[in-house]
Amino acid sequence: MRATTVVIGAGHAGLAMSHCLTSRSIDHVVLERGEVANSWKTERWESLRLLTPNWQSRLPGYTYEGADPDGFRTMPETIAFIENYAGRCGAPVQTHTPVTSVTSANGGYRVLTPRGEWRCRTVVVASGACNLPRIPAVAEALPPGIKTFTPTAYRNPSQILDGGVLVVGASATGTQLAEELQLSGRAVTLAVGEHVRAPRVYRGRDIKWWMDAAGVMDDRHDEQDDLVRARGVPSMQLAGSTDRRTLDLNRLTGLGVRLVGRLAGIQNGIAQFSGSLRNQCELADLKMNRLLDRIDEWATQRGLDDSTDRPHRFEPTRVEHAPPLGLDLASGEIRTIIWATGFRPDYSWIDLPVLDRKGRIKHDGGIVEAPGMYVMGIPFLRRRKSTFIDGAADDARDLSAHLASFLDGETPGA
Ligand SMILES: Cc1cc2nc3c(=O)[nH]c(=O)nc-3n(C[C@H](O)[C@H](O)[C@H](O)COP(=O)(O)OP(=O)(O)OC[C@H]3O[C@@H](n4cnc5c(N)ncnc54)[C@H](O)[C@@H]3O)c2cc1C
Repeated sequence: MRATTVVIGAGHAGLAMSHCLTSRSIDHVVLERGEVANSWKTERWESLRLLTPNWQSRLPGYTYEGADPDGFRTMPETIAFIENYAGRCGAPVQTHTPVTSVTSANGGYRVLTPRGEWRCRTVVVASGACNLPRIPAVAEALPPGIKTFTPTAYRNPSQILDGGVLVVGASATGTQLAEELQLSGRAVTLAVGEHVRAPRVYRGRDIKWWMDAAGVMDDRHDEQDDLVRARGVPSMQLAGSTDRRTLDLNRLTGLGVRLVGRLAGIQNGIAQFSGSLRNQCELADLKMNRLLDRIDEWATQRGLDDSTDRPHRFEPTRVEHAPPLGLDLASGEIRTIIWATGFRPDYSWIDLPVLDRKGRIKHDGGIVEAPGMYVMGIPFLRRRKSTFIDGAADDARDLSAHLASFLDGETPGA
């Protein structure tokens, strides 16, 4: 089978690229190992809502049309949104077609699936940024008897044993699961490393509205002092909810969650926590205030000071005087551990020298180090928003233009 372009993955990123390829009359196929919106159907917990407001999922040729632009989509709503998009743009998706290998062949690519082989000149890898949960190496030293979960396997609190839960990681996933489990009656301990604190609402408007309007989400990859660092920054502590509550560490300690430092090791059944909790929290408060400074400056420049609430700052994160540095995992106090320690993509099926020694795909703004190969949907690909649904439109537009010039034999610009 032949196509000019094979797109791998039918999440929003692959579909956005399909839309742009269709507009340019580039014939293509979208190969999807499961169904459209597969990650949202199979890898997310039940109570999850998008942390981006409804209006902020603008895809090429498709925006929010409902009556609640400032609300946050549930999982069924997110799935319906992406499925509708696939239908609306007539994406040529072949579902239940996992790509098992991509190799180069005759100046193009050979893409293998159990349902046949594709030959193409260009490939777009849109297989997602969060295929595999990251589990720290210390997990190997866990004593027997402790149940562990990753966020992709967790669905709801009924899976979790009564008693204590240690949630490791305090970014969006960790804080959301810590809140849900504490409210379900478990005693939650949260191990907190580097994190990004943000209020849900600031000066009367959603923080995502401010970040979008002030251009923060459009910060470009080629303007970052340290791009590797920018690509590794954890997700903001945010949650989508009907009451627009802020989900920071103060909210969690108010509910009774106990904070400890980063999980640094496990020795003889004792979990050891870093002593840096207070520093990490001070740093997160400082960075949040820097973001709010940028927003305030922009609001003043734009003359918004009279039409929005006055600038203000939030209470610093409360940290107990001497948080515990160790916890005996054999004592029965902790019965479950949740690894909310991030995600990574799975490129094990790419048989080309385009991965670095950490398994990351080598690319410049989505243009992979193999001619005619592109990647979409990963953190800070071209812009801060690249990893969000809202970032796919600009990235797909830029990369499809590059791909079209490549096909025309021109020397495309980055
Ligand atoms: C817990 C969580 C919450 C998030 N919340 C938000 C949010 O509120 N707002 C927001 O904008 N973004 C959010 N994101 C981020 C972002 O939307 C996701 O990273 C998003 O799923 C990426 O879109 P994608 O299309 O690149 O990847 P995916 O949606 O993961 O799509 C990739 C597709 O590729 C398929 N695939 C993978 N490997 C293969 C293969 N070898 N062959 C064929 N098909 C393959 C997968 O089945 C999948 O359907 C969240 C992510 C997570 C994990």
